[in-house]
Amino acid sequence: MNFITNRFIFVIFNSKNNKKFYYPSIHFYFGVKMVEIKVREVMSKNPLFVESSMTLWEAVKAMVQRGISTMIVVDNNVPLGILTDRDIVVKVVARGLDPTEVKVSDIMTKPIVVINADDTLERAATLMGKKKIRKLPVIENNKIIGLLSENDIVRIAPTILEIIEEKEKMKGEVEYKEKEYLAGRCENCGEFSTELLYVNGKYLCPVCRGVG
Ligand SMILES: [Zn+2]
Repeated sequence: MNFITNRFIFVIFNSKNNKKFYYPSIHFYFGVKMVEIKVREVMSKNPLFVESSMTLWEAVKAMVQRGISTMIVVDNNVPLGILTDRDIVVKVVARGLDPTEVKVSDIMTKPIVVINADDTLERAATLMGKKKIRKLPVIENNKIIGLLSENDIVRIAPTILEIIEEKEKMKGEVEYKEKEYLAGRCENCGEFSTELLYVNGKYLCPVCRGVG
């Protein structure tokens, strides 16, 4: 059961959510502040970039070496897509494909759903929920500078996901329509953009949409 007011947010976990932790009430006050934490304070820096022409085998070796589960796929330093260990399991292992023959670009997800470094954790968590993704590359000045994972958020603000779930219910779909950021190559001019939008079947940069 959750109680929410305008100024303070009190979350009381039901048995479904409260298996591991007990939250003393002081924690809820911290929880309110955590909602205002910026993405840049929590993200991991130096994400792993891999070339799109790499085989999956090479990419996985790089992942294991760095001990991380997400790669940003680039072509001459231009980010094209994202690839997670889960993608590899679902799209390669489960289909019995040979990782020495599959190219990273064959199975990456593109364009990339991104978040601004100065956005709040709340906004990031909301975006993850809406898009059903667990990793968000972080952008600043048209560049990817970090990676935010769902685990990063939960570690910092364990109550945030429940808070957002409840706020979404209260606000409803209409009011919660927010600007979304997509990054990758424009399918018209080929330039990298962190503001792609899907228009008439193509991902277009602001210039090609006639608004840049
Ligand atoms: Zn363009």
